This record gives sequence, C-alpha cells and structure tokens, in this order.
Amino acid sequence: MQTHAYGAHAGDKPLESMRISRRAPGAHDVQIDIAYCGICHSDLHQVRSEWAGTQYPCVPGHEIVGRVSAVGAHVKGFRPGDLVGVGCMVDSCKECEDCHAGLENYCDGMVGTYNGPSADEPGWTLGGYSQHIVVHERYVLRVRHPEAQLAAVAPLLCAGITTYSPLRHWKAGPGRKVGVVGIGGLGHMGIKIAHAMGAHVVAFTTSESKRAAAKELGAHEVVVSRHPEEMAAHLKSFDMVLDTVAAPHDLDALLVLLKRDGTLVLVGAPAAPHPSPQVFDLIMKRRALAGSMIGGIPETQEMLDFCAEHGIVADIELIRADQINASYERMLRGDVKYRFVIDSATLAAT
Ligand code: NAP
Ligand code: ZN
Repeated sequence: MQTHAYGAHAGDKPLESMRISRRAPGAHDVQIDIAYCGICHSDLHQVRSEWAGTQYPCVPGHEIVGRVSAVGAHVKGFRPGDLVGVGCMVDSCKECEDCHAGLENYCDGMVGTYNGPSADEPGWTLGGYSQHIVVHERYVLRVRHPEAQLAAVAPLLCAGITTYSPLRHWKAGPGRKVGVVGIGGLGHMGIKIAHAMGAHVVAFTTSESKRAAAKELGAHEVVVSRHPEEMAAHLKSFDMVLDTVAAPHDLDALLVLLKRDGTLVLVGAPAAPHPSPQVFDLIMKRRALAGSMIGGIPETQEMLDFCAEHGIVADIELIRADQINASYERMLRGDVKYRFVIDSATLAAT
C-alpha cells in the first residue's frame, strides 16, 4: 500500500512530503490507520543525524495512535476498529533473556520504529509521520482512554513510558522525593506520572517562564536551576532525580542533590557527551548514576492503563504536517507546551 508521509532526504535538508509503501499485513501483523503522531526530540536528533547512522529517506515518528484497519490471520488480540498505539519499537528477537522478561527495549535485536533494519522497502523502518503503518501484534498497544483524548495520548507512547519506567524501577511513590529535570515533552510527563504515583515532586527548569506551569502539571516545588540559592536549598535530599535534558550539561550540580543511595537517572540523549561527573560526588553518600531507555511492551501497556485510570494525557499543540519543520525550530527554543502532535489527516494535503 502507498501512503502519504513526511520525512527528510538528508540530515541538512528540511522534512518534506513523500510517498512510501507499507507491506500487506502478514499472519501476525496489525495494519493501522494513523490518526496522530507526537514529535519527540529524538526525531530531531535522528533526522538530522546527530546520533550518526541515519539512513535516508528518514521518516521519523514513534508516538503513534490510530485505529486498526486490518489484521493477519493469526492475530488474536486486535480487531479492525480497535484504538491502538505504537511506540519506539516494532520488532525484537523474541528469544533472548530481555525479550522473555518483557524488556524488548533492551534486546540487542530491537528494531526501532524508524531507522531500524527491515525486510520492507527501502531496507529500514519508516516511522509514524505517515498515514498507515503495519506492525507485528506483539508491539501494538491497546488504548483505553476516551477517543476524544486520542491526540493527547500519542506522546505517552514515548515520553510517557520513558519516564514511567524509571519512576517505577527506582520506586517513585509515597515518602519518596523525586526531581524531574527539564520541562519538555518527557519532563512534563515525568511530573504528571510521579505525582500520580504519590511521590513528592520537584521540577527543575532553566526557564523562569515555566515556574507557574510546572505547579499546574503537578510539581509540589519548582526550582529554576539558574539560581544557585534555589538549588542549594535541596542539597542531599532526593531519592531520585530524573534528567530529561536534551543537551550536555553539568551533572555534578544534580548529583549533589541526592541523599545517601540516591540515583540520578539519565534519559535525555544529547548528541555530545556531558562533562564527566566528579568521582567524589558519587562516592560520598554512595550515590548512583544510571540510564534508562523507553520501556518494555508489557510495561508500556501498564503505563497506558495507569494513565487512563488516573486521567493522565500529555499537554499538546496539534499541528498540520506542513508545520513540522517550524515545530522542530520551536522545540529547540523550548517554545512548546509541551508536545507537538501531528494531525495525520493533514498529510494527504501535502
Ligand atoms: P524537549 O521537549 O525538547 O525537552 C527538553 C527540555 O530540556 C527542554 O524543554 C528544556 O527544559 C531542557 N533543556 C535545558 N537546557 C536545554 C538545552 N540547552 N537544549 C535543549 N533542552 C534543554 O525534548 P524531549 O522530547 O522531552 O526529549 C528529551 C531528551 O530525551 C532528548 O535528548 C531525547 O532524544 C531523549 N529521549 C530519550 C529517550 C530514552 O529512551 N532514554 C526516549 C525519548 C527521548 P527547561 O526549559 O525546563 O529547562
Ligand atoms: Zn521519543
């Protein structure tokens, strides 16, 4: 099937309208009419080849929601008409320890929703800035939110799970003090989810203008990290700090906020490395520095159900396909509250 899409032919070129083909659904495949797709900062890193290894044409997009339009003969879990989502991966080896544990995100054979190896044309996966996608049923999630919220559900498929998974793993909950650094797509979801888990949530932002908004998102306290006295007030007090910042920055300023056995978890994936942390900031108080990547399929379903139960969706700005390039520039300036979502119906007009 041919479908309208939006992608780039080179890292230094803007995204443009293109036609791509999708395979006919195989026995275990689900074919989806995409309704909306969120714009993640990773899309920008990848489409501009900031992480190297991008193949072109590159069609980004891994915050996909829509409706099932057809299923293969062996698909049991989904039927045409179902509301579904697809996140950051569309395949994995299905046999390794990580896959057996439902942590397909850590499988060495994990296939990203875009720029991953594929038997389909053109030889790598093409993502959700398109009108249709065909995905193995194992990597399709069920959406239980009301349909009216569908556009705002899209960002949960990456920003939601990337914050939910480490918050669960490091036990955010009642009696725990959790910091969320960077109030962008990931960070604003982190604040909402940590609040719903019952943690005491402190938001860290470089933007004075987000101070009031962070409280509305659910932060109990807000620190503008450019003000040293505000940072100093929280020294040695956190169980966990979740760092979503998309650019290199000083990690020591965050490590010293942790109390004994606290953990700084990096989920932001800047193109250039952070300046190395001071060893003494780690060994004093037995602090840990960790990373986390999206989440497994069972945990992604758990996150979607948790968010549906708690009435959590992303705060979004819905855009047309021809606004994608301008949205990238606005995202780089931090000028988005807090996630752009593409109305996929507008792809046909491009
Ligand atoms: P985003 O919407 O652009 O948010 C990033 C936030 O970081 C900004 O809103 C800003 O918040 C803060 N920031 C501070 N200084 C910055 C600077 N110099 N440049 C850019 N941002 C700065 O991005 P996102 O979509 O949330 O993604 C954040 C990062 O996570 C990206 O690197 C992305 O690739 C990565 N990511 C990782 C995973 C994973 O699995 N680990 C998954 C998805 C995304 P304030 O204004 O509040 O300071
Ligand atoms: Zn993402």
